[in-house]
Amino acid sequence: MIVPSTLQGPSCAVPHVERQRVQLGHGSGGKLSAALLREHFLPRFGNRYLHELGDGAVLPLGGDEVVLSTDTFVVNPLEFPGGNIGHLAVHGTVNDLAMMGAEPKYLSVGFVLEEGLELDVLATILDSMIEAARACDVEIVTGDTKVVERGKADGLYVNTTGLGHAPGGFRPGPRRARPGDAVLVSGPIARHGMAIMAAREGLAFDADIESDTCSLLPLVAALRKRVGDGVRCLRDATRGGVASALNEIASASDVGILLETSPPVPGPVEAACEMLGLDPLYVANEGVMVAFVAPGVAGSALAALRAHPAGAEAVLVGHVVEEHPGIVALRTGLGGTRVVDLLPGDQLPRIC
Ligand code: MG
Repeated sequence: MIVPSTLQGPSCAVPHVERQRVQLGHGSGGKLSAALLREHFLPRFGNRYLHELGDGAVLPLGGDEVVLSTDTFVVNPLEFPGGNIGHLAVHGTVNDLAMMGAEPKYLSVGFVLEEGLELDVLATILDSMIEAARACDVEIVTGDTKVVERGKADGLYVNTTGLGHAPGGFRPGPRRARPGDAVLVSGPIARHGMAIMAAREGLAFDADIESDTCSLLPLVAALRKRVGDGVRCLRDATRGGVASALNEIASASDVGILLETSPPVPGPVEAACEMLGLDPLYVANEGVMVAFVAPGVAGSALAALRAHPAGAEAVLVGHVVEEHPGIVALRTGLGGTRVVDLLPGDQLPRIC
């Protein structure tokens, strides 16, 4: 494989931004988020668990290992085609635990409610949370509620923290990608981001676009059963999309990634992205993961994903390469390659 020498060079720097205050782009999952983590959080909080930069922390506890993960949800609007903030808050944390190879057991929930929020809206969201939790076989076991004045929050924000059991022998992690590994994407991309965009802007597309919010537990269980520790890394491709998830793994494992094909994009989603000038590779998903698997098990891993309805359209999109460590490149239709870099900030803020 020939990779142009231009790929070896430095990538786009973080653009000049206001240095003294937080910007919306700091929440994007792109370069500004990475800079915030690198410059402010890790130097202060860093320890051997945090430095793994996983979707959760694998922790020793009483001779056993557990995984702990937390996520805060600020999506605007609260309800959108295909789900609401309650579904996201359960699936998001359950999926982060699943990406660490854990079996989620318990959730805590913390709410920030805005004065004036309709109690019917809150009830709908709570019903969705309990429905999603039951479907994932997790229990909501503790929580907290705070209320802020009118105008100080957009209805509600919610944090979920999840605790899961980590069985031995199955420990995917972002630092485990190796040259030769196959890169799989579990399904069609960009649905969540475009569903939010349509709901927020009141855009009417030719066909309804629904969020893909769902639990990834069944897909991870299928992979684990079929190829076990042949699964090297898993990451749910949420904010920043598949492109950001791949960049995070390329960077954590210090390997290159060459995409030989793009993941599938549903027709209406692709049309909407084109209309708005968005690249689907960077648009958020809430029910799609990337999976890195050892070279010898790529075929069985793909078959395992495709055997489940949520993974029916799974594809092998590329491979891990020794060349251009830390860089994700995409082979273009014309036979060239282009760098799929982290975006500086947000294509779409407040997406999850
Ligand atoms: Mg994640």
